[in-house]
Amino acid sequence: MGFFDYLNKLFSGKAAKPAREVQTLRIRCNRCGEIVSAEVNLNSDLSLEYNENGSMVGYYCRKVVMGKARCFQQIEVVMRYSPKKQLLDQEVIGGVVLEKGEAEASA
Ligand SMILES: [Zn+2]
Repeated sequence: MGFFDYLNKLFSGKAAKPAREVQTLRIRCNRCGEIVSAEVNLNSDLSLEYNENGSMVGYYCRKVVMGKARCFQQIEVVMRYSPKKQLLDQEVIGGVVLEKGEAEASA
């Protein structure tokens, strides 16, 4: 392997790290309909989750967000991830998560 091949390999290796480390959720407040966004940083916002036997089952993240409008409704988001940080489940109390198309249509 030549020197430049070696360099190429180095740089392509660097580029291979996960691209989406921050996930942005768009949530519509149940009370006033305002659309609020919540950011989840997969590197810093996730907590490890263990089962009863003490073995690691994945990650979870809990966020409380509030719109800028006057309704002061707090929206709680709980998300569960696999050990590979793939989103398994999300639960929203006080609001509804918008799918991509929905969020664009109402923007
Ligand atoms: Zn609201």
